[in-house]
Amino acid sequence: MTTTQVRAACPHDCPDTCAILVTVENGVATEIKGDPDHPTTAGVLCTKVARYAERTYSADRLLYPMKRVGKKGEGKFERISWDEALDTIAARLKPLAQERPEAILPYSYAGTMGLLQGDSMSSRFFHQLGASLLDRTICATAGATGYKYTIGGSIGTDMEQFQNAKLILIWGGNPIASNLHFWMRAQEAKRRGAKLIAIDPYRSLTAEKCHQHIALMPGTDSALALGMMHVLIKEELLDQDYIGKYTLGFEQLQQRALEWTPERTAEVCGISVEEVLELAREYGRTAKAGEPVAIRVNYGVQRVHGGGMAVRNIACLPALVGAWRHAAGGVQLSTSGTFPTNKPALQRPDLLKKMPRTINMTTIGNDLLREASPEFGPKVEAVIVYNSNPLAIAPDSPKVAAGFAREDLFTVVLEHFQTDTADYADILLPATTQLEHTDVHLAYGHLYMMANNAAIAPMGEAKPNTEIFRLLAARMGLDDPMFRETDDEMAAKAFRKDDERAIHFDWESLKLKGWQKLNMPDAPFACGNFPTPSGKCEFFSATMQADGLDPLPTYVPNYESRASAPDLAAKYPLAMISPPQRNFLNSTFVNVQSLRNTEGEPHLDMHPDDAATRGVIHGDMVRIFNDRGSFVCKARVTDKARKGLVVGLSIWWKKLARDGKNANEVTSQRLTDMGRAPTFYDTLVQVEKAV
Ligand code: SF4
Repeated sequence: MTTTQVRAACPHDCPDTCAILVTVENGVATEIKGDPDHPTTAGVLCTKVARYAERTYSADRLLYPMKRVGKKGEGKFERISWDEALDTIAARLKPLAQERPEAILPYSYAGTMGLLQGDSMSSRFFHQLGASLLDRTICATAGATGYKYTIGGSIGTDMEQFQNAKLILIWGGNPIASNLHFWMRAQEAKRRGAKLIAIDPYRSLTAEKCHQHIALMPGTDSALALGMMHVLIKEELLDQDYIGKYTLGFEQLQQRALEWTPERTAEVCGISVEEVLELAREYGRTAKAGEPVAIRVNYGVQRVHGGGMAVRNIACLPALVGAWRHAAGGVQLSTSGTFPTNKPALQRPDLLKKMPRTINMTTIGNDLLREASPEFGPKVEAVIVYNSNPLAIAPDSPKVAAGFAREDLFTVVLEHFQTDTADYADILLPATTQLEHTDVHLAYGHLYMMANNAAIAPMGEAKPNTEIFRLLAARMGLDDPMFRETDDEMAAKAFRKDDERAIHFDWESLKLKGWQKLNMPDAPFACGNFPTPSGKCEFFSATMQADGLDPLPTYVPNYESRASAPDLAAKYPLAMISPPQRNFLNSTFVNVQSLRNTEGEPHLDMHPDDAATRGVIHGDMVRIFNDRGSFVCKARVTDKARKGLVVGLSIWWKKLARDGKNANEVTSQRLTDMGRAPTFYDTLVQVEKAV
């Protein structure tokens, strides 16, 4: 018996990027646990990744290359050899690459967050071919853009500091489900006397455990931030010294904020005037008393028309009260911009001979159905999907399914399991999981560079994404040495050592240690130094003005709301949001039986008054519908959903739901105000009892 312990990192789309210890006995992973020495992981993994061995060794794993033998979407495949798979793909891609390379489209996202298995060799491959570029917008670009205009980049309060805050606003997120290690810090802050306030349309698990919950309507967060600014200004709760030295455009902001009386704010947000006043006073007075006030804003607020502006407005608040003076003050949306990642070395954008067109992953439903035209370019004829499951996760799912069902579309899917998308593949390739390959990671919730060592041999004939694209490059006749670089050689280039933040980065020692903190000051903006054009927190942004946007914080209403679309609201009076189920991570883990057993089946949470007017009782099957489509699930009548709101926790695999559909049947392909991102939570629906 040989027993070893291997250092790994969680690859999933979660800010916590946990450090993992894998016990391997005779080549089999027998235990997966959080590294007790890693400061943010602290020995704790979430329930999902604690089951990673069950997922890796699942009887459903794809172990061999396969070709489709049934109709598209039917999911019938037969085993083939790697040689046949690679030859088939190369034979389809070669003529396209020669004649109209933009007809080839990569489609990927954060199925793994690793810098190697995410996008390294794959990007080199597609860049060399001249394939269409993919605008990877599906999750975070609206908020990241609004944050960048204001603060200059995805840099914020260190997760390890939150326990020292006196007040924490948890805005638009449910960290118990999706940011567990931040929640552990918030709990510690609570034990030390801090107040926690959740701002969320839904009374999530997190909101239930906070001291206060403000249940505003979806898409009104930017108005609430403006209303808070109004009160801070009127009641002289500002840090004038910080504003004077380290911000730009306060006079203009003041004019704008004064339009947002507590009464107007309350009306727009669907909350009380007292809630607006008390929130602003709590925030301003705590800061005025010299205590750290911190905001953890999350991506929930930015999945609406005005999502970028919402994050921008919230990101203005810490500078107004001088919260950045404290290491435990400020705001965190993401820390990813703190890492000096050397993506050009990994992805080689210099290979592009001319700039190809870019296709937005959010509008894949429309774009797969578009014909060739001078504006669009060639029709999409081949899609290579990796680290993503667009059939389940992309909005306006009926159109996405129609696109992938096209008989003339050649689809290759790299996967661990036969997902909804895999059912549409012409060629299905088995990919390794995190236990079976090497990778290097940044994080978007903490400040550690992370290494993932392969713990076990690949299952069956599965291969790492990097190796699959190496083999494909060889089949396509691409013989530059960069297509033969090993994973270790690429990982060694992941961070720029000439940047003082990563000055100690060395891949060989990172592999041994597992993790290494960036070299960063505790309070990055205590004395300004924002990475904006002015070096200040920009209340007024000339860059936004040049980009055709309002340069000041404002309120952008939802596309679909009673105020902006009264006719639509008369037909579809309920706002719907579809935040993450606790035991799933987007569409990952839905097929893990033990986790699905915990979640049961798809539900819709609706307020007792909304249920009563529709004759719906707890446990009824209901149909949720609008002009885009419909899906069926079981009603849970509960005041966790405020009146006028229904909540479909997500993202279920369509084929594991009763009617083969999920919440994305009714979401739209409209884009946010900035960042070209989806508007999943800007959705009006009607609900009726299903017959
Ligand atoms: S999903 Fe998040 S909380 Fe769970 S193990 Fe991975 S990084 Fe940690």
